[in-house]
Amino acid sequence: MNNKKIAILGAGPSGLAQLRAFEAARRAGVKNLPEIVCYEKQNAIGGMWNYTWRTGLDKNGEPVHGSMYRYLWSNGPKECLEFADYSFDEHFGQAIPSYPPRAVLRDYIMGRIDQQAISKYIRFECPVRWVTYDDSTNMFTVTVMNHKTGEQETNEFDYVVVATGHFSTPNMPYFKGLENFHGRVLHAHDFRDALEFAGQDLLLIGASFSAEDIGSQCFKYGAKSVTLSYRDQPLGFDWPEGMEERPLLTHVDGNIGYFADGTSKHFDSIVMCTGYLFHFPFLPDELRLKTHNCLYPDNLYKGIFFQNNPQLIYLGMQDQYFTFNMFDVQAWYARDVILGKIPLPEKEQRLVDMHHWLERHEQLDGEHDNIDFQASYIRDLHKMTDYPEFAVEEQGELFKTWLKDKQKGIMTFREESYTSTVTGTVATQLPAPWLDIKGDSLESFMALDFIDVESQD
Ligand code: FAD
Ligand code: NAP
Ligand code: MG
Repeated sequence: MNNKKIAILGAGPSGLAQLRAFEAARRAGVKNLPEIVCYEKQNAIGGMWNYTWRTGLDKNGEPVHGSMYRYLWSNGPKECLEFADYSFDEHFGQAIPSYPPRAVLRDYIMGRIDQQAISKYIRFECPVRWVTYDDSTNMFTVTVMNHKTGEQETNEFDYVVVATGHFSTPNMPYFKGLENFHGRVLHAHDFRDALEFAGQDLLLIGASFSAEDIGSQCFKYGAKSVTLSYRDQPLGFDWPEGMEERPLLTHVDGNIGYFADGTSKHFDSIVMCTGYLFHFPFLPDELRLKTHNCLYPDNLYKGIFFQNNPQLIYLGMQDQYFTFNMFDVQAWYARDVILGKIPLPEKEQRLVDMHHWLERHEQLDGEHDNIDFQASYIRDLHKMTDYPEFAVEEQGELFKTWLKDKQKGIMTFREESYTSTVTGTVATQLPAPWLDIKGDSLESFMALDFIDVESQD
């Protein structure tokens, strides 16, 4: 196997996992590795973990990818996303708490990457414009806009790895009367700073992670009231005074919002925490994954290979309990198929395997089931690769503890500490309640006097 060419689209955690997987093979002495080019729209690696103050369009006129906001802290325990080949201990040289702010996790992601070794593969400020596949040559043609040169570039590849993420293009619903609302109406994608909403009555639509977290942030940074409006089920946490849940908004009139239970309330701003669209404007119909946010999108063998053309690989397209370590396992598996170490079965057999997972997926009942499902999906891939062993089932159990801890206190769960399955290290504790720690920089976080739980009786 040689002279194969691979295009990786995106240099977020998924695209970086693919680069790292090949780098690990190179270090292990594997010869004749394929040629790799990674096209990235932003001017840095890290994907969603790069905070940007920009909204709308970036400096090149491209849609801003970033949906992250200031003061964002991890919403799950870091012990559940730890890389098996690069621990938190190795990166920070000390135990840290289980729920770090964004900048701390970004630092960790960057720390694993030998930036010099991989930077030669990455073309920054090169959004992918269009991808086609030629049946006669079995090659893809990838066209990108190189904003650094101001010119479009076209190249041919044997494999295309789509790692462009799916939490970036807003799903924006309409409610009657919004056009006459006297205040800001925005999507979570454009939310940047909770301080903007201090002193306001805030309405959030949605009942998932963004609603829960943006609501908590705005409460933490001084919103007068936070109302979360759900379509199906309320989140159901024991919200502090000043936060409440109501059924779905029916319409607004001026600054008054009306709800399905007949109640109404005054609002200054509305944030749509209504999720994201899978959006691949660079892919033609026959190559485009069409799905909503779920744990097993259809038409992906092993959750990664596009069924109608398995030279097209999608990473990180699942809804995510597990994140970084799942992307790693997917990337290692994809690498080994490309290298011919793992066989890719015929179409019919792939279909049978896919259907087995899709049937299980359909029967999932509740969060514990979801977690076990994603853990067993990861295990299924992991057992075929040489990605270092990690206790994925044990991490699944940690996720279940996390769910319980959130039920116990939605404003306090980030004060809990868990034990790393990679190193056995017990996380330290925050020295103050999460609600009272307002800084979110790497420096301010690392300057905190973490409490060593192990030394306590
Ligand atoms: P992304 O990180 O989205 O990276 C995709 C990359 O592709 C980006 O760099 C983008 O610029 C690039 N790209 C997009 N389109 C193109 C194009 N046409 N051409 C070239 N490049 C392109 N996960 C956790 O584990 N813990 C958390 O606490 C957490 N918090 C989150 C908070 C928010 C608000 C959001 C939205 C997500 C959060 N996530 C969290 C999930 C997060 O999406 C994943 O952790 C991770 O970033 C996904 O990696 P990815 O590489 O698949 O996608
Ligand atoms: P999501 O999980 O896909 O949830 C979308 C929500 O919007 C669901 O509650 C859905 O309701 C609701 N919705 C969709 N259309 C609607 C409509 N027309 N009317 C009313 N409600 C509607 O998206 P998300 O919450 O934005 O989360 C995306 C990702 O970001 C997750 O991976 C999450 O972990 C991450 N995130 C992390 C943090 C953090 O780490 N601190 C913070 C925010 C987000 P139904 O359930 O009824 O479909
Ligand atoms: Mg839901």
